[in-house]
Amino acid sequence: MIPPMPPTGYRGLSLWHDTIDDIEPRPSLGTDIEVDVAVVGAGYTGLWTAYHLVAADPSIRVAVIEKEVAGFGASGRNGGWCSALFPASLKRMATERGREAAVRMQHLLHDTVADVGWIAEAEGIDCHFDQGGYLSVARNPAQLERVRDEVADHREWGFGEDDHRLLDASEVMAVAGVSDALGGSFTPHCAAIHPARLVRGLADAVERRGVVVHERTAAVDVRSRRVITAHGTVRAEHVVLATEGYTPTVAGRRRAIAPIYSLMTATEPLPEDTWAQIGLDKRTTFADNRHLTIYGQRTRDGRIAFGGRGAPYHYASKVSPLYERDARVHAALRRILLELFPVLDGVTFTHAWGGNLGVPRDWFPSVRHDRHTGLAFAGGYVGDGVATSALAGRTLAAMIRGDDPDDLASLPWAGRTSRDWEPEPLRWLGVNAVTALMTSADWSERRTGRPSRAASAFWTALGQ
Ligand SMILES: Cc1cc2nc3c(=O)[nH]c(=O)nc-3n(C[C@H](O)[C@H](O)[C@H](O)COP(=O)(O)OP(=O)(O)OC[C@H]3O[C@@H](n4cnc5c(N)ncnc54)[C@H](O)[C@@H]3O)c2cc1C
Repeated sequence: MIPPMPPTGYRGLSLWHDTIDDIEPRPSLGTDIEVDVAVVGAGYTGLWTAYHLVAADPSIRVAVIEKEVAGFGASGRNGGWCSALFPASLKRMATERGREAAVRMQHLLHDTVADVGWIAEAEGIDCHFDQGGYLSVARNPAQLERVRDEVADHREWGFGEDDHRLLDASEVMAVAGVSDALGGSFTPHCAAIHPARLVRGLADAVERRGVVVHERTAAVDVRSRRVITAHGTVRAEHVVLATEGYTPTVAGRRRAIAPIYSLMTATEPLPEDTWAQIGLDKRTTFADNRHLTIYGQRTRDGRIAFGGRGAPYHYASKVSPLYERDARVHAALRRILLELFPVLDGVTFTHAWGGNLGVPRDWFPSVRHDRHTGLAFAGGYVGDGVATSALAGRTLAAMIRGDDPDDLASLPWAGRTSRDWEPEPLRWLGVNAVTALMTSADWSERRTGRPSRAASAFWTALGQ
């Protein structure tokens, strides 16, 4: 069944916003202020940075400036996979900074998944964190070949059975009753969360520690040592830009990040007899191994929240609420979910929404801080930002404070910059061509069972 029209206001942004307490915007900035650190954007990146700054030194004065409300962006709307996935491969990280740095980064990403859980618990944030791992299912021979290659690749980097293991079809079925499963892989390094509960809880947590959060305050210009808004100017020694997919809307940064839309849909809470057939008892997150990303989770209230890519990139990196609802893509997502779990036939879908994620030109996230200008940035997570942003915030806080006992500033993503995207219309042509390529590669793999050469060539060209 087609979902009803979305409710209005912030509650209508997503399933997640619709299942938290009412959102009462915090006061806007009312005057010029001066702080030590100004953070632009109250998503995970901005709030984790603020959190680690004041957790390490309660005397640091931090102000967070948010255009709408905390969790308005991708951090409130995502698939809730708190995973150790990273868009740049170990090979790429090693090419840039050496094998040891690449492996250390992956270990830190593993640890960060659990860190999110324990910090949330310590701060009293009930974000429905359940670390049930991630199941990648192979549903055709090409996907099976890729899953095997991925697990073999992890072995070569020194990761063992406890990190990634191959599953045969019956082992997959023991976790989730997915149709046509030929096999798959499992990693414990992923938790399912309620994303809006985490980001809203983080905003409360930083406030309790003395950070000032100004909502409904858009930064119109972000410069060295100052953030200019229509309500006043924030002067600060350090300025953190944490606007991810919205970065192209900030003056002078149109080509820094391409905003790509990822869309989601959710079912009504399912009855126990349906869950008995689907499984996912530990809330293991799931996907199959297609090229055009899909992702799903069993929510604490017994729904399936399911999303994927495939929405078009919009000319000149435009972002708009209009792009968050695309009937064609939402229908495709519902169809794919029914293919995965035919038992869902006839179920009601209650929510459909979307949001933008930030893709840098080289698909390699970055964390950087320029000591001379005081300007800092973290992002470009290409859709793997839930746990990654927590590590980014910890790293930025260490860089800004100049106190880095864990040597986070030497990680492969630290201090690097992706080059800008091409001007239009090349950007539009290029980004949408990649989506079309992935769609047709999946179609051909489903038909022939053979890995798509075109898709492999793309990943190889990217250095993956
Ligand atoms: C539908 C969807 C599903 C996803 N699923 C997953 C997943 O399952 N797992 C995963 O790891 N990642 C996922 N991601 C990606 C992940 O959600 C993001 O990488 C992450 O939330 C980025 O956090 P952020 O704080 O950097 O950006 P955001 O959460 O987007 O925050 C940026 C904030 O900046 C504010 N802002 C913008 N412009 C201004 C301005 N001028 N002045 C002040 N404030 C401004 C925005 O309102 C917003 O609140 C998904 C993304 C989407 C869209």
